[in-house]
Amino acid sequence: MSSPTPTNATTPDHKPSNFLRQIIEHDLAAGTYAQRRWAGSPGDATHQAQGEPDPAKIRTRFPPEPNGYLHIGHAKSICLNFGLARDFGGVCHLRFDDTNPEKEDTEYVNSIIDAVRWLGFEWNGAPDATPYQASDYFDFMYRAAEHLIEAGHAYVDEQTPEQMRINRGDFSKPGVDSPFRSRTPAENLARFREMRDGQHADGAMVLRARIDMASANINLRDPAIYRIRRATHHNTGDKWCIYPMYTFAHPIEDALENITHSICTLEFEDQRPFYDWLMERLTEGGLLASPPPHQYEFARLNLTYVVTSKRKLAQLVYDHKVSGWDDPRLPTLVGLRRRGYTPEAIHLFAERIGVTKSDSWIDYSTLEGCLRETLDVSATRAMAVLDPVKLVLTNWDEVMGAGMLDDCSAPLHPHHPELGTRHFKIGKEVWIDRTDYEETPPKGFFRLFPAHVNASGQAIAASKVRLKYGHVIETIGAVKDADGRVTEVHATLIPDTKSGTPGSDAVKVKGVITWVAVADGVSAEVRIYDRLFSDAQPDAGGKDFLECLNPNSLKVVTAIVEPSLASAKADDKFQFERHGYFVADRVDHAAGKPVFNLAVGLKDSWGK
Ligand code: ATP
Ligand code: MG
Repeated sequence: MSSPTPTNATTPDHKPSNFLRQIIEHDLAAGTYAQRRWAGSPGDATHQAQGEPDPAKIRTRFPPEPNGYLHIGHAKSICLNFGLARDFGGVCHLRFDDTNPEKEDTEYVNSIIDAVRWLGFEWNGAPDATPYQASDYFDFMYRAAEHLIEAGHAYVDEQTPEQMRINRGDFSKPGVDSPFRSRTPAENLARFREMRDGQHADGAMVLRARIDMASANINLRDPAIYRIRRATHHNTGDKWCIYPMYTFAHPIEDALENITHSICTLEFEDQRPFYDWLMERLTEGGLLASPPPHQYEFARLNLTYVVTSKRKLAQLVYDHKVSGWDDPRLPTLVGLRRRGYTPEAIHLFAERIGVTKSDSWIDYSTLEGCLRETLDVSATRAMAVLDPVKLVLTNWDEVMGAGMLDDCSAPLHPHHPELGTRHFKIGKEVWIDRTDYEETPPKGFFRLFPAHVNASGQAIAASKVRLKYGHVIETIGAVKDADGRVTEVHATLIPDTKSGTPGSDAVKVKGVITWVAVADGVSAEVRIYDRLFSDAQPDAGGKDFLECLNPNSLKVVTAIVEPSLASAKADDKFQFERHGYFVADRVDHAAGKPVFNLAVGLKDSWGK
């Protein structure tokens, strides 16, 4: 089948097209898979022949190895495979690729199920279906191996691994036939059964496909398909002491599940000829239904400032460089979720980066942009002071009355009045951000500064600034401690300037600042996250990614937040006005002890 050239065409449902969508459209139009039958569960040709015509127009699959937590790269694959199935009337399978007996862990299995569900997908064609697992197909894989042996397509090789490596040749040199290559099928079958029955030591021999030791594609030089490995498997226990190799197992898993389009990352391109070879041998032998699945490759996601390898992520976790798999600085889906990422933001990202056939790097700011865009629409607003210093309104008692607290209000979302209003107080003392006061302001600084003489000798009047949703104030100056650090800022309130009251805008101001009253402000822990790595490609070119950790990737501050945030629930997202988007931490946030994580700033300060 030829692959049409990618274009930027748009499909009728207004999804941007890509080469995979075009291949599927072509297959649907040509009826490539229209004759297939599905007996309701995975199985061989005989099993599927008993079924109805497959109600799924296409079948795709997401086949993680349960040896770690999923990351943003997996999310690209999930959105792609589940998205294609959804858009083309198909079904996407969630399959645990657990053919390697040593690596399975139920913690990982559960986390993968949660991640796929969190992204909003259901698998295997029914809500809450049990995911498939590759180890359930061991019996068939064994039978397929015997079939290959009987048909003269596989042999047991007793060369040492070293001999095998040397005899495989390399790019410039063809391989050399193993002395065991010409054994008869009967001999091979007997040996293979001895392997299965535990009569040989681990590594003593392997079963190899007999293809072509001179092939230009080294993957076709009689690849190993079964090895001896005494290991207890989480699913099959000690039933087997031989296990299939991934390259043999994977196409069979796809075929038993009636997968039509088996989509994997580009590294597997050189494996496709073996995939096709194996599918031909097993369909012509009548073991598997026809037509078999076909493999397609797309470029994996490479994202700057993170590592996306389960092994490297595990190292960060187990070396305690981060707090766990769900550390908000990690690109794991649990980490991103705790950071404040939503499924919508991740879907938008997957759509925006698209699917191509050539590797490239995506800037981390693209991911952040997607979060910012989705949160701008949905996150309610609040005021927070991250580095609080007290502002005293010295004339409050005369103008407003001693001890008086005035009511202020603001919309929960500026573009969604239907969401309602938040209420808070203003009084003689309010918290403001330390950076909002400058004794000698730089040019263009419009927030709080006292009357002063500037660098060019000009007398500058004290600034007038609006306390957002409150009154206009005029700066007096600041009280400092012995070290010259500001401990209190003083200002006067200008009467009749309260936001929303008649004539309130009579006094013009250039600066508006956010604040929280001392009377009703709530103390909160705020975790300000930055990039985990200070290098854009921490593991590229043989670099040691652990050397590139950003020492300032987490700063914890005690902030004062608006009273409306006292009732925030874990996972609730907010825009802290002027600061960015924050999420109530799903692990540590509790009533009476609020904890917020910085999800993303208001502006992209990195991309440029
Ligand atoms: P890792 O190296 O992180 O362990 P993996 O590819 O070995 O990744 P699997 O569990 O085998 O992890 O992956 C499941 C699926 O996710 C595969 O189909 C794989 O192609 C896809 N996938 C993994 N990483 C990425 C990525 N960075 N971009 C796109 N797809 C990915
Ligand atoms: Mg892997």
